[in-house]
Amino acid sequence: MSKGTISILQLYPREMNIYGDWGNVLVLKQRLAWHGYDAVVSEHNAGDSFPDDADLIIGGGGQDSGQLVIQQDLQAIGPRLRGLAEDGQPMLAICGLYQLFGRFFRTVDGTVIPGIGVLDLETHGGKERLIGNVVATSEEFGEIHGYENHSGQTFLGAGVTPLATVTKGEGNNARDNHEGARRHNVVASYLHGSLLPKNPAIADFLIRTAVERKYGTFEPGEVDDTLADLARRHAGSRPR
Ligand code: GLN
Repeated sequence: MSKGTISILQLYPREMNIYGDWGNVLVLKQRLAWHGYDAVVSEHNAGDSFPDDADLIIGGGGQDSGQLVIQQDLQAIGPRLRGLAEDGQPMLAICGLYQLFGRFFRTVDGTVIPGIGVLDLETHGGKERLIGNVVATSEEFGEIHGYENHSGQTFLGAGVTPLATVTKGEGNNARDNHEGARRHNVVASYLHGSLLPKNPAIADFLIRTAVERKYGTFEPGEVDDTLADLARRHAGSRPR
């Protein structure tokens, strides 16, 4: 018998969904099932009305051109996302959407794409792209594995904390060893790959938070993470 139903809302799956980011949605769906919960996945695309019933919000990376396409709609739903984030809604924003959850992204050609200020950070595009495998460590989630490919370099303000400290690769920028950002129950990261198959601790954090907000308590199921552990070991042994 199902313990409950969690509604996952994927933001802009057409434009913001590269390097396998769709895999994050699949992992949330499958792990919810393993934990004994049903998942309903819906999409928000530019022009759609924003739903009232999302329990978990997720969005991926995209080209600068895709970020330009969705920016107007993102501005329109920005106040809703800000309110939900402040209220403790779990969210996962990867790379291109992570950048736009901040204050702005100034692209390599000087175009300024305004962000929605869910997160206190800003992003500056440069000629050098940061590309390769990343390993980072976090007190909250342990070792985090992923793949990065971005021209924007992100710098965090005082209102957010880094998700993790980079031990291999670059993460937010080429300067400070920070990867990603955290505020309330928002997790933001540059890492594709996708992120959640190799980092089930982050997936279960998002799931637990969504279930607790909706039902009060989360009853985990038995999950076999042998494959995820294997993928983590393999990823960790890869050259940059
Ligand atoms: N277009 C952004 C950049 O290049 C984001 C890229 C991405 O999402 N991988 O920085």
